[in-house]
Amino acid sequence: MSDLPLLEFNPKLPKLSKNERKVLDLLVEAGKLIAPIYLEQEKQAKNDSFSSSPYTVVEKVKGKLVATPYHVKYAKLLKPVAEKLEEAAKVSDNKQFANALKVQAKALLDGTYEKAIATWLKMPPYILDISIGPVVYFDEQLFFAKASYQAWVGVINEKRTKRLKLYEDVALATHRKALIPGERIEENHLVKSKVDDVLLFSGLMARTKFIGVNLPNDLQWVKKYGSEITLFENANDFRMEEQIIPAFNKFFSPGFRQGFSREDLRRASLRYVALHEIAHSYLYYKNAFTKLQDLLPALYELSATVLGMRIAGSLLVKDIITDKQLVSMFVTFICRSFYLIEQYKKTKFMGNYALGGVIFINFMLENGALKQYKGLAIPNFVKMFVSLHDLFYILEKLLSSGTRKDAVDFIKKYGKLTDMI
Ligand SMILES: [Zn+2]
Repeated sequence: MSDLPLLEFNPKLPKLSKNERKVLDLLVEAGKLIAPIYLEQEKQAKNDSFSSSPYTVVEKVKGKLVATPYHVKYAKLLKPVAEKLEEAAKVSDNKQFANALKVQAKALLDGTYEKAIATWLKMPPYILDISIGPVVYFDEQLFFAKASYQAWVGVINEKRTKRLKLYEDVALATHRKALIPGERIEENHLVKSKVDDVLLFSGLMARTKFIGVNLPNDLQWVKKYGSEITLFENANDFRMEEQIIPAFNKFFSPGFRQGFSREDLRRASLRYVALHEIAHSYLYYKNAFTKLQDLLPALYELSATVLGMRIAGSLLVKDIITDKQLVSMFVTFICRSFYLIEQYKKTKFMGNYALGGVIFINFMLENGALKQYKGLAIPNFVKMFVSLHDLFYILEKLLSSGTRKDAVDFIKKYGKLTDMI
């Protein structure tokens, strides 16, 4: 994977002022400059030893291990990025956005990331959106507990953002009934949300092609400043072509496939990710990281999907989505899992998501919610929805009070590749 980690999109954008257009172009230029930095990180990842800070590189220099902060290590490459952001800040006629850009530019150069995160989370809604710099993707295996350089640049899609907020309201109203409080950290923090039409993915984002994120992942920061969900509406089209449609054609029978249009699956793919990201906000556990360690990401990601599907059940009850839409979400999640499992076998990339998919599929096979016939998957959606409750119960137990051994046993039981997967 040494090709440049850059993905450019050409979405239909709302009308922007001349000023906004100019700023947007500068942001895209800045974002592109992140790609070579991530590439450096990729080269290094193999030799990098563990260090206590996610923002340092540990290297052997003359036989000694030396920890160098990112902003020092990549200073040369970061300087032009910061300059672009400064330039955009000068041009922008939105004062708060300009200020946030300046704070971000400074953070890139001196490592004051916490201040930058706090500033962005305090920003009132604005039509232009950028995230740029090193981010810890808790659920990303390649640099587990390491921050990876990434950028996205987008324009807010207002209509979709409203829809996402509606989902959040329903989730908030119903989740207390659905969860065991236990060891969970009270989620009285602020969750912001937005849907972007995205122009650029750079660095890690171009590799993972996430269509939704909920950031930051650092619990302490979430408690202090809240978190923000971002969905990338049009990046989903990419996922459809590359992942969902091929898996759909391969693993489901022609008769079954007739029941779903491309548009059904496209919307479902976004919807399940939206609910997955919302669910993340309800799954912060005090001791999960220390107890489950490296096994946490896979379980945590699967839990978010499973809880997300349960929230979808609440949307169904409130007539916000239809049965067909709920079922389509299951189909796209299964397709995505099949895709990731096949990819993982080849590249070992995104293993946590692949493992989550394996567990889900095995659990559903065991419960008769999925059957296999000549390599095809035959789902029973009623059983699947019922089985979700059992699966979530187990997952939440593991996250809230499970030991690492409990997690090992669970993964041993359900995390095996079978002939189907
Ligand atoms: Zn996630």
